[in-house]
Amino acid sequence: MRALCRAFDWSSTPLGPSTSWPQSLRTTTGMLLASRNPMFLWWGPELIQIYNDAYRPSFGAEGRHPRALGMPGRECWTDIWEVIGPQIEQVMTTGEATWHEDQYLPIERNGRLEDVWWTYSYSPVRDEEGQIAATLVVCQETTRRVIGQRERDQLLEERRQAEQSLRESEARLRAIYDGTYEYIGLLAPDGTLLDTNRASLEFSDIPRDEVIGRPFPDTPWFSNTPRAAEAIRDAVRRAAAGEFVRFETDIHAPSGECRTFDLSMYPVRDEKGDVVLIVPEGRDVTERHRAEVALRESEARYRALFESLDAGLCVVEMIFSERNEPVDCRFIEVNPAFMRQTGLADPSGKLRSELGRGWDEYWMQTYGNVALTGEPIRVEAPTTVNGRWYDVYAFRIGQPGDRRVAVLFNDVTAARTANAERERLLRALEVERSRLEYVFKQAPAFLAVLRGSEHVFALANDAYFRLVGKRELIGRPLLEALPELAEQGFKDLLDQVLATGTPYVGREMSVRISRTPGAEPEERFLDFVYLPLVEGDDERVGVIAHGTDVTEQVLARREVERLFDLEQHARTVVEEAYRLAEAANRAKSQFLAVMSHELRTPLNAIGGYAELLEMGIRGPITAEQREDLTRIQSSQRHLLGLINEVLNYAKLETGTVSYDICDVVVRESLVAAESLVAPQARAKGITLATSECPPDVIALADPEKLRQILVNLLSNAVKFTDSGGRVGMSCSTDDRHVRIHISDTGIGIPADKLHVIFDPFVQVRGDLARRHEGTGLGLAISRDLARAMGGDLTVESALREGSTFTLALPRATPTSA
Ligand code: ADP
Repeated sequence: MRALCRAFDWSSTPLGPSTSWPQSLRTTTGMLLASRNPMFLWWGPELIQIYNDAYRPSFGAEGRHPRALGMPGRECWTDIWEVIGPQIEQVMTTGEATWHEDQYLPIERNGRLEDVWWTYSYSPVRDEEGQIAATLVVCQETTRRVIGQRERDQLLEERRQAEQSLRESEARLRAIYDGTYEYIGLLAPDGTLLDTNRASLEFSDIPRDEVIGRPFPDTPWFSNTPRAAEAIRDAVRRAAAGEFVRFETDIHAPSGECRTFDLSMYPVRDEKGDVVLIVPEGRDVTERHRAEVALRESEARYRALFESLDAGLCVVEMIFSERNEPVDCRFIEVNPAFMRQTGLADPSGKLRSELGRGWDEYWMQTYGNVALTGEPIRVEAPTTVNGRWYDVYAFRIGQPGDRRVAVLFNDVTAARTANAERERLLRALEVERSRLEYVFKQAPAFLAVLRGSEHVFALANDAYFRLVGKRELIGRPLLEALPELAEQGFKDLLDQVLATGTPYVGREMSVRISRTPGAEPEERFLDFVYLPLVEGDDERVGVIAHGTDVTEQVLARREVERLFDLEQHARTVVEEAYRLAEAANRAKSQFLAVMSHELRTPLNAIGGYAELLEMGIRGPITAEQREDLTRIQSSQRHLLGLINEVLNYAKLETGTVSYDICDVVVRESLVAAESLVAPQARAKGITLATSECPPDVIALADPEKLRQILVNLLSNAVKFTDSGGRVGMSCSTDDRHVRIHISDTGIGIPADKLHVIFDPFVQVRGDLARRHEGTGLGLAISRDLARAMGGDLTVESALREGSTFTLALPRATPTSA
């Protein structure tokens, strides 16, 4: 560099020819060129560059050297000026030196951008006047050291990471090792246990220290099972010789439970192939063993089920056309029921088409669909092959590609018919049920169903609610719903019916019950029956209460009974009175009979003697005497008549009259009676109309008694009719009676007297009747006679217009006529 510097044309630079350089520049340049430490100088405001030999390698092979010599710094270091420009500027303005260690300054050298690190100091160089004239760089390229350091750091980091991941992986392995429920350990080739996992220790609840370092076969794991210990010893020997050993053995746990293990011994070899470790591993396969046994048993059971199933079962493999349409199927397996139901003798392995049977398109599509989609189907449908109905359950089995379908089916033809019938009956039953419910609801009788020993209301109809008022009944026990019934004995009756099953019938039973919630209980009378409610297996589950509220009837009947009693009493009184009256009447009649008889004798004597005198047998009589005698005779006759009549009535009353009943031609009786009263009628100037009665009208009567009645009626008619009046007779008939009508145009009888004139001794008093004589016995006798002959006597009359008496008598039948 010294030579280069000397030869360089410094006059082309702002420094000017080296001969004119200030002393400070010369001194600095001399020191720089002599130094073996890389140095660099930026002089003056343009920062003209001078550097030494030691610096040169830093420019690289075809770098900036030697162009950089005498070049302004800003032009030389365009690539890193952003970094070093401000650092130089700072030194030039402040005069303070700076120190930069391992500064990264990538530069263009050797034809590329190189990563370069520098440790350098910038220090100010002062001129003769003490002004800052330059920046001197003393530097050391540290690229190699930095890179070396970085590589070391990286190596260290990689190692740390490797160690870390090793630790992690070991922890993971340890976690697996300790976390697995399998039993794992490590053995030395001589069988010494080097390590074991948590599961192994927990199996026998052994502390780690007790087993580590001991020969594996002698550890407590196998102390209860000598055979296992022996097998292990043998296995260790074989594994140590390089063999992978695997075997099953039973081991008794400390609890005594026997468990089965799948054990293995894996030999681990080193690079030379020597066995350096043995990995013993054990797996508890007890459950698997049991499951296998269970599986075998269940397989056997399912096979038995398959064989004995009543339903037909077959497994078919569906066969599809190229367009994926089901065209046929192959029977894989069928059960005996299948063969029974289809009549196909073992079709296993054969195609449906080979069996020469029809094939229902519907079922083909159905099974094809199951095979393709895997969706099971349950369907009840007929088959066109035989017209029968089948209940079919089809589902895919095996792998989808197998296209296998299991078909479980039952012939339900009979059941369907039965079902249809059942549904029809159910519908009919429903109709009946709703009708019954309607009847039940509307029934005038009350009805309730009480269930269980607490007699909980399950049902009650409207009538029942009317009886007990609209209360909450349903779901409540009897005495809770109707508390006023406590102590009235109904619960005991219900208990009894439920216990014995014997119905209880209550007649007009009195119950005190509230008719509305909270009201005072009132007395009602009920006719009811408690019937046991029987369900299922003749089990008595409750009681049906059915009956009617008969309160109104009971009360009405009680009133009737009271009245009846009263009436009975009255009747007895009346009867007694009647009996007494009867007796009195009879006594009176007897008296009258005796008396009349006694009177008749002297009266007859009077008449006889009066006649003797009149005949002049006792001597001649004067005209006046004759007149008196006539009067005596008249009175005697009247009195005698009277007495005769009284005697007649008395005879009737005492029941001593006898009747001689025979056929009587009514017309003849009428004519005879008429002739008897004709003189009186004539004398009174009354027209006596001839009787209107056909001769074939024949009555059954005593002729004498009939005559007596007719004379009496005609006499009365004449008696109570004024002159100029009219008295007539007629007759009429019906099937059983002959009626004789005696009518007059006389004074008539007042309406209020009509019913008494037939009583004895009754005479209608009044102005009109006063003039007439009589006893008041004639009508009484006549009616008694008529009735005694099986007839009757009645009257119709109007005051001042006349009367008609009608005598009814039994009519003689033509044969008896
Ligand atoms: P007597 O004629 O002796 O009074 P009866 O028994 O024959 O008794 O009649 C009872 C009464 O009935 C009569 O007194 C008279 O008042 C009334 N009576 C009977 N017949 C007639 C008649 N044809 N017209 C009106 N009154 C009559």
